[in-house]
Amino acid sequence: MARGQQQTPADWVTRAADDAIRHAGEGATKITVASGASPSGPIHLGNLREFLTVHFVAEELRGRGLDVRHLHSWDDYDRFRKVPAGVDESWSEHIGRPLSAVPDPWECHDSWATHFKEPLQAALAEMGVEMEEISQTAMYQSGAYRKQILTAIRNRELIEKVLARYRTKAAPPVAESEQEAAALEDSVTADDEPTGDDLLARFPYKPWCRACGRDTTTVTGYDDESTDLAYVCQACSFEGITNVATQDEGKLVWKIDWPMRWAFEGVNFEPGGVDHASPGSSYTVGKELVKAVYGGRAPSFVGYSFVGVAGMAKMSSSKGGVPTAADALKVLEAPILRWLYVRRQPKQAFNVEFGPDVVRLYDEWDALARKAANPDKRDAQVLAFERASATVSAGTLPTPKVVVPFRTLASVADVTAGSADLISQVISRVGNPHDSVDDLQPRLDRAMQWTAEFVPVEDRTTVRTAPDAARLAALSENEAEWIRLLLDNLPGSLELDEVTAVVYGVPKLARGLAIEDAPTGEVKADQKAFFTLLYNLLVDKDKGPRLPTLIVALGAEKVRSLLGG
Ligand SMILES: [Zn+2]
Ligand SMILES: [Zn+2]
Repeated sequence: MARGQQQTPADWVTRAADDAIRHAGEGATKITVASGASPSGPIHLGNLREFLTVHFVAEELRGRGLDVRHLHSWDDYDRFRKVPAGVDESWSEHIGRPLSAVPDPWECHDSWATHFKEPLQAALAEMGVEMEEISQTAMYQSGAYRKQILTAIRNRELIEKVLARYRTKAAPPVAESEQEAAALEDSVTADDEPTGDDLLARFPYKPWCRACGRDTTTVTGYDDESTDLAYVCQACSFEGITNVATQDEGKLVWKIDWPMRWAFEGVNFEPGGVDHASPGSSYTVGKELVKAVYGGRAPSFVGYSFVGVAGMAKMSSSKGGVPTAADALKVLEAPILRWLYVRRQPKQAFNVEFGPDVVRLYDEWDALARKAANPDKRDAQVLAFERASATVSAGTLPTPKVVVPFRTLASVADVTAGSADLISQVISRVGNPHDSVDDLQPRLDRAMQWTAEFVPVEDRTTVRTAPDAARLAALSENEAEWIRLLLDNLPGSLELDEVTAVVYGVPKLARGLAIEDAPTGEVKADQKAFFTLLYNLLVDKDKGPRLPTLIVALGAEKVRSLLGG
């Protein structure tokens, strides 16, 4: 490398994109990167990694000028497995039916599947994620896979041979936390692996019962010539025959379904969670099956680890369940949420913060934004910032026009407990001039929401409504002098710099120094005592937000009244 020449930074996204291109081969006109998700419940922040991992790779490829398709498969033809807490027990009647055929208990969507798809679609749009979505229900019911299904059935002995070999090797993934264990519990992978000793019991295709719509069917016969498949339903005892070549009433079992779709769609890159990536898992088995059955090649693959949440203990439990992307977006700007997922290697687990660390996260992000503004400092961290901040088609995602530290916004929101307008006025007075509330968005809304929902009550600031008469009557001589000096020197119109000088200066004045003099050891001790006194009198606590900010936020009149002035 020539001296002074800058090396282009690279990260896991760069490498995954390289792999996808290599997989597509020379002369490929289109690259397909794929994600998949089952809308069986709220799509939590762990599932979001599936979407975003593919999205970032798609963006890298788009950025290189390639024609790329982010294909997202909604696995809404998966079976409804269990009735979650909070849903009427009568929904157990739907267990075994496709998610797209289960009614929406909340009655706001056409099905269970749509109820959980829609909020995520909205959150993804806010995050600038664009994908081509397909519904597996629609694909199967339209007969799109007929040929592939017949191929699988013709090769059922081969499939069983491969599955049998891996069955003994399968090692279930080990959960490293309680949250992860719960997520694995919900995993689809172990779901529809057929059991039984004879080949018919392990048939790769499962019909839904024509009478009751459930997958509780046992295949009792299959005629290769006519492709008639006979079954009996364990749930309703219906006995039926479906013709696989002409009727579209079933679905391949997961371990052959996934590789079939790789071949059908020509997928070049697809990630998967640890439950899909362990030895004997669907990816390793699928890799062999796609070749043996469809003459295809498994996509290049990245296994990603678990994403948990932290700092949620105080969240209202009435909402129930696990936090989703929409919940995270109430607190984090979209680029920051994206950043959490792009800055770490997929194999690294991490938590999305909802608690006090949100403040630190915003500080880190703002510092990175300043670094990114300097082209000489472009490195892997800055690359992650760029990936998080913008997309090829949407451009830069919404960030505030005037960047005020999140901690300042949150602390003013806390002290004033007021409207966005009031907070905006105070924010101006504490040294962050701006023209309108909009200049502070989308951050201000998030700071307000975070303060209201995620800051524990004991950490919130409650301003006194009336002066503490008893404490004021019991002031020592020193204390009374400090308060008098403060009230005498406090300007009528409060500006942060001036208020800061006065608050720190009062103990100096009391010891015969000037406001601008350096503090002596005695003055420092006095300052500490004076600040505690002010917190006691203003908010009935020993500490709180920075005093100058607190005083400016309260306004001169309120401060004077609480200090007995
Ligand atoms: Zn709904
Ligand atoms: Zn039935």
